[in-house]
Amino acid sequence: MNVSPVENLGYGIYCIDARYISPGMACCYLLVEGDEVAIIETGTAYTAEAIAEALADLNLTADAVRYIIPTHVHLDHAGGAGVLMQRYTGAKLVIHPRGARHMIDPSKLIAGTKAVYGEKKFAELYGEILPVPEARVIVAEDGEVLDLGGRPLDIRHTPGHAEHHFCVWDRQSRGWFTGDTFGLSYRELVLGDKRFIIPTTSPVQFDPDKLLSSIELMMGTHPQRMYLTHYSVLEQPERVAELLCEQIEDYRRIALSLKHEPDRQQLILREVEEMTLARIKAMQPEADLPALRKVLALDFKLNAQGLDVWLTQQ
Ligand SMILES: [Zn+2]
Repeated sequence: MNVSPVENLGYGIYCIDARYISPGMACCYLLVEGDEVAIIETGTAYTAEAIAEALADLNLTADAVRYIIPTHVHLDHAGGAGVLMQRYTGAKLVIHPRGARHMIDPSKLIAGTKAVYGEKKFAELYGEILPVPEARVIVAEDGEVLDLGGRPLDIRHTPGHAEHHFCVWDRQSRGWFTGDTFGLSYRELVLGDKRFIIPTTSPVQFDPDKLLSSIELMMGTHPQRMYLTHYSVLEQPERVAELLCEQIEDYRRIALSLKHEPDRQQLILREVEEMTLARIKAMQPEADLPALRKVLALDFKLNAQGLDVWLTQQ
C-alpha cells in the first residue's frame, strides 16, 4: 500500500510515517504554530531521520522544536525520544508521570521489550534507546495545558491501554492525538465510504473499564478528528466510537468465557480474529478478508496476549 511519507492535514499538522515494520503501520505528527513545533509521538530511533527531513521540507530549523510528546512509553511511540532530545537541544520532553522514569532511565523498558522480541528483532525494530536528561523532562499531570506559540494543547490522562498513557487535545482543529487509546485503523481498514477500527489491548496494563471511560472522556469534547498513531487522521470519530467500544466489550466477554481453558491465549486469539473479520464482512461484504487477516495478524496476537495478562490479574 502506498503511504506518502509526509501528509499535510491542515491546521499546521503534518503526519509522518514512522518507518516502523512497514509503511502505514505507525506515524508521528508535527504540530506547527508560528515558529514553534511540537513533535507528537517519536516513533523509534529510526524515525528521527524522517522527522529531520520533514522539518527541512517545511523550512523549520532544529531550534523551532519546543516539545517532544510521546503519548505513552511503548517503544513505537516513545522509542525515539532520546535520539530526538539529543538532536533538538531546545526541546522539552512531555510525558505522563508514570512514564517519566522510563524515559530518564530506559533500561527496564529495553529489558522488557527484549524479553518479548529477542535481541535481534529488538535491534531491527527499535534501534538504540537513549536516556533523556531529567532536567529536560516535563511531567504532565492530568489537565496540564501546554503553550505552543500561543496555541493551547490540553493533556488528559487516558488509562486503559496503558496506565502511562495521555492524549493531547488540540482546540484549534478540535482533534485528539490519541496514541493507542482510540484503537487502530490502518489504511487497509478504509472500506468504501466507511472506516473500520479495532481496539489495542496489548500487554501488560489493558483495563477495559478504564479504556471505555477514556474513550468517553474524549468523545465528550465532541471532536471533529482523531489523529491516530496507527494510522493518521480519522474524521467524524462518532461514526466509529461505538464500533470501537462494542469490540472492547466483545474482547472482555471472549476473554472471560475462556478464562479457565488451559490453552486460553490461542483460543482468545482465534475468537477475537473471527469476531473481527465477521464485523468487517458485515460492514463491507466485498472486503478481502484473507488480506486483512494478514494485515492485522500481529495486532490480534498482541491483543490476545494482553487479554491473557488481564485475565491473570482478575
Ligand atoms: Zn501502546
